[in-house]
Amino acid sequence: MKAGPDSDLAELGFLDAKETLALAAAGLRRVADLLMWLPRRYEDRRSFDAFPAQPGGPAVCIRGKVIDASKRHFGGSRGFYEILVEDQNGGVFGSSTVSCRWFNMPFIHRMILAGHEVILHGKPKDSNGKLVIDHPEFEIVRDDDQGPSIHLERIVPIYRNISGIAQRRLREIQHRLLQEIEPATLAASFDVDPTYPRHEAFREVHFPDAVEQAAAARRRFALEEFFALQLNVVWRRARVLDHQGRVLGRKTTLLKRFYENLPFDLTGAQKRSIKEILADLREARPMNRLLQGDVGSGKTFVAMAAMLLAVDSGCQAALMAPTQILAEQHYLTFKKWLEPLGVRVLLRTAAKEESSHTPIEGEPQILIGTHALLYDKVAFSDLGLVVIDEQHKFGVSQRSRLIEQGTMPDVLVMTATPIPRTLTMTIYGDLDVSVLDERPAGRGKMITALRSAAKQSDITKFVKEQLKAGRQAYLVYPLVEESDSLKAESATEAFAKWRKRLPGREVGMIHGKLPAEEKEEVMRRFRDGEIHALVATSVIEVGVDVPNANLMILHHAERFGLAQLHQLRGRIGRGEHKSYCILLTDGKSSEAMEKLAVMEKTADGFVIAEEDLRLRGPGDVLGTLQSGLGDLKFADFLADTILLREARALADEVIAADPSLTRTHASLRPLIHDEAPAASRRD
Ligand code: ADP
Ligand code: MG
Repeated sequence: MKAGPDSDLAELGFLDAKETLALAAAGLRRVADLLMWLPRRYEDRRSFDAFPAQPGGPAVCIRGKVIDASKRHFGGSRGFYEILVEDQNGGVFGSSTVSCRWFNMPFIHRMILAGHEVILHGKPKDSNGKLVIDHPEFEIVRDDDQGPSIHLERIVPIYRNISGIAQRRLREIQHRLLQEIEPATLAASFDVDPTYPRHEAFREVHFPDAVEQAAAARRRFALEEFFALQLNVVWRRARVLDHQGRVLGRKTTLLKRFYENLPFDLTGAQKRSIKEILADLREARPMNRLLQGDVGSGKTFVAMAAMLLAVDSGCQAALMAPTQILAEQHYLTFKKWLEPLGVRVLLRTAAKEESSHTPIEGEPQILIGTHALLYDKVAFSDLGLVVIDEQHKFGVSQRSRLIEQGTMPDVLVMTATPIPRTLTMTIYGDLDVSVLDERPAGRGKMITALRSAAKQSDITKFVKEQLKAGRQAYLVYPLVEESDSLKAESATEAFAKWRKRLPGREVGMIHGKLPAEEKEEVMRRFRDGEIHALVATSVIEVGVDVPNANLMILHHAERFGLAQLHQLRGRIGRGEHKSYCILLTDGKSSEAMEKLAVMEKTADGFVIAEEDLRLRGPGDVLGTLQSGLGDLKFADFLADTILLREARALADEVIAADPSLTRTHASLRPLIHDEAPAASRRD
């Protein structure tokens, strides 16, 4: 009987006990494990590179004969093994010989000897005027390789090493495995590409006849990975649509009066988003929409419009903010614009409950709060719309918890975290998306400058000038208090110094360790202009809106992540005045400098997000967002946009055909991860 993907490697019959042990030590026990041990790269051994004539450049793959080999020493005891390899073509295109060296590899001299014909892969470099390749990967050509072979005269897979199994042997094992396995057993429970049998893709990823074949095979496997992700996304979305929501937004009286009172025109993007929201609200199915807009793009006003529509339909609307400061600020903004319209706004946070200056009569129509809202059973009597600000700070389960407070309310999620489109489709793929891609008019210019080793007297002078002109400043530090392990000035230390540096000015301080009441008080005084310069940590990162503040000095800027720097900088440039963001650093690492240079170069959140991904990789950038993404072996979020769309279309088809995955596609049900009940069924 032929083997299948679940067959035990030990039972295949062509591996000896030592080999099975070596494979098991690398975590490979079943046939599928080994098949998924993919080539790290390929060598096209139908034609080799010319022998290198000069150092530098990419790795070369050459074939030649070892004409000399010896153990050598550098003065002391440090030994190395050196071989001289000659080009059998006589060096027609390059030089005719090259030296290869291995250090600290005591057995190498028994493996590779004068007279051997070898294939080498490595980077040529210069060593005291001599051209050498140090520690090349090598394979010895055998006499029996003449004629057809899996090791020569073809594109050859090179695998990540498995201790105890030579590259050559591993290649033989993979090749044999592909012959032993019954092709039909490799079929997936859902075939993302019926025109390209899966077993063929396995053969072609290991032993391609052409470079394009390997690429096509990888593409097929990447599509499978994306499909599994998108199936979950579409599944979640379908679960929300299972519910009957209510129709809101028929009446727009309040919205019209709100527009009339605004001192500015909404941007085109704001108007478009409100229209999209209105259309959703008027549908019976619950709205599930993401409002994506860079810092300062005016998301709050879109939220306000949406919430007014809910209120006008006779139900409550709630806004959930990630921090106390933000909830407080939203509350003030809402009160300012909505109380004149007769709308009852209530702030509800863990720290305090405040109704408004005059106690509100009757039920609150708009509730603003932090996550404390989640645990508040009494607050809501008739929740029709939930707005979640800065969604990325909340877990999916928190979102669903709030949703459960209402009878399937409409949901609007807002985020300023600019993430590439492909990621949006995955992380927020169950949501419809509105984008605020337009900055409100009348904003002053923003200047960002990177300064290493700037003089404190110059900085102080600049801050003084701006304050004298009537502006306000943020002085940001990475730490609250002194730390033994991190050598960086803390906000607490700096606070005392700034008070001395700015005589006659009110200097405030805010950080996460202050009691909530004190934080609010400091923010209020800063907003009202009573505090001129605010020493702060990254607590001000999200959403804080004081248009008169036009200067931010970021101390030890290298300690902040790119996304965080962008959020912090978004606190300024909100008014008509010219703004300055000064990034101070004493860090000298090129990585840190590259990161900060991005900030100097662009203010575009999407560009910054992509740079961030490039510099740090998706794992770090996405943090908790990442959890739904799993381990992708083949797929590349940044590069494979088209493939991701293809996967989405397939997932849409599957769920449309079998929404509950119980009939034609029941075999796909195990692909669904239920631990994220974005909208758990309430039936
Ligand atoms: P976001 O939450 O997207 O960062 P906000 O909603 O806090 O942005 O708005 C940022 C600032 O821009 C606020 O001071 C707000 O009053 C102002 N603003 C919003 N929309 C407009 C507009 N259409 N025209 C002028 N100013 C606006
Ligand atoms: Mg905001």
